[in-house]
Amino acid sequence: MPQNFDAIILGAGAAGLMCAIEAGKRGRRVALLEHAERIGKKILISGGGRCNFTNLHCRPENFLSANPHFCKSALARYTPADFIALVEKHGIAYHEKTLGQLFCDGSAQQIVAMLEEECRVAGVTILVKTTVDEVRRNNGFTVRSGGHEFHAPALVVATGGLSIPKMGATGLGYDLARRFGIAIHECRPALVPLTLNAEDRQRYCDLAGVSADVVTSVDRIPQQFREKMLVTHRGLSGPAILQISSYWKKSMPLVLDLAPQREITAQLRQLPAHRNMTAAKTAFRAALPQRLADRWLELHPPPAWTNHGLAELERQIHYWKIVPDGTEGYEKAEVTAGGVDTNELSAKTMETRKVPGLYFIGEVVDVTGHLGGFNFQWAWASGFCAGNAI
Ligand SMILES: Cc1cc2nc3c(=O)[nH]c(=O)nc-3n(C[C@H](O)[C@H](O)[C@H](O)COP(=O)(O)OP(=O)(O)OC[C@H]3O[C@@H](n4cnc5c(N)ncnc54)[C@H](O)[C@@H]3O)c2cc1C
Repeated sequence: MPQNFDAIILGAGAAGLMCAIEAGKRGRRVALLEHAERIGKKILISGGGRCNFTNLHCRPENFLSANPHFCKSALARYTPADFIALVEKHGIAYHEKTLGQLFCDGSAQQIVAMLEEECRVAGVTILVKTTVDEVRRNNGFTVRSGGHEFHAPALVVATGGLSIPKMGATGLGYDLARRFGIAIHECRPALVPLTLNAEDRQRYCDLAGVSADVVTSVDRIPQQFREKMLVTHRGLSGPAILQISSYWKKSMPLVLDLAPQREITAQLRQLPAHRNMTAAKTAFRAALPQRLADRWLELHPPPAWTNHGLAELERQIHYWKIVPDGTEGYEKAEVTAGGVDTNELSAKTMETRKVPGLYFIGEVVDVTGHLGGFNFQWAWASGFCAGNAI
């Protein structure tokens, strides 16, 4: 005999937990099924172990989606202030690190403990180490796991994206979407380091560890990010690169301004008698880390020590066009871009239009946040909406 619930939620990550809490608070009997040995594993490793749980400046513009309007309703219904109120209710100390990013003072474990406690109070049944063997639709939904069966009129898919498979990521959400005829936008790793081809690796990658303040963009997309870039053994990383990676697609050139809002060659142009490599190195070292400055001049010497040549040198440092040869993939990606087509979902409830009672929330949906707490805010907000609908 199946165990009967009002809703079955697949995946006890950020979105699934929030959905379960909200539904439980409304008196719904909720089963939250998680295949890992514990809940909220990605929350635990997030934000370097301190969980960047939201962003004070969260706006729809901080999200990528084939339909940029879709996220607006959910983000308006459950705001950063709502999550902050929950964090404060549980006495969790937090701080703003930079750019509106809120982190725990202590550890991400506090956020997981908070969500677990809220689930307990709301009467949610959490089942870990529960692998989904089969999902059937029959006057509601039946989920088979091991020898057990669970039945409910509502099924919420909150199984996340494909990033970090060793943390338990699976493609179950996408498989279920396909099974039920729900369209998917092609998935790709996002918030991910970019790799360089062999030639560029030889040119730059021995500088691994060097970091610089840069502006990143990709051709023909208005979005720009001014943050740190880090050279790695295989290519480029750091927040500026992770941010732009979400917009980057194979064979697109990346454009970097390596000295934002600085005019490096101004003095050289004023002193014609001192135009040489030594003076140029001094000027570049004042704006960039020394090793990067020296390497840049080695690889991009001015065509001539004339005003025209110096102007070209200046132009190049603000417009470094380089074509990455790929990304570090799902192993290193913080999130998965693409996913369940938002046209399939109600923006208010996250319920699919084609299959009444079937919901998708969190990262499995084609809504991807910028770096900085936005992905959790989407998980909380979409989970909240579904939790209030089931
Ligand atoms: C290293 C790292 C750091 C991050 N740091 C931040 C940060 O500081 N701030 C931020 O906003 N975002 C951060 N993110 C992104 C954020 O973690 C995700 O966007 C967010 O967790 C998505 O929530 P979700 O509930 O949709 O998916 P998840 O949190 O991934 O939860 C999905 C759950 O479903 C379970 N599951 C998967 N497959 C199955 C299955 N077949 N059966 C049953 N259960 C299944 C998983 O085990 C998991 O518990 C980070 C991501 C990574 C990888």
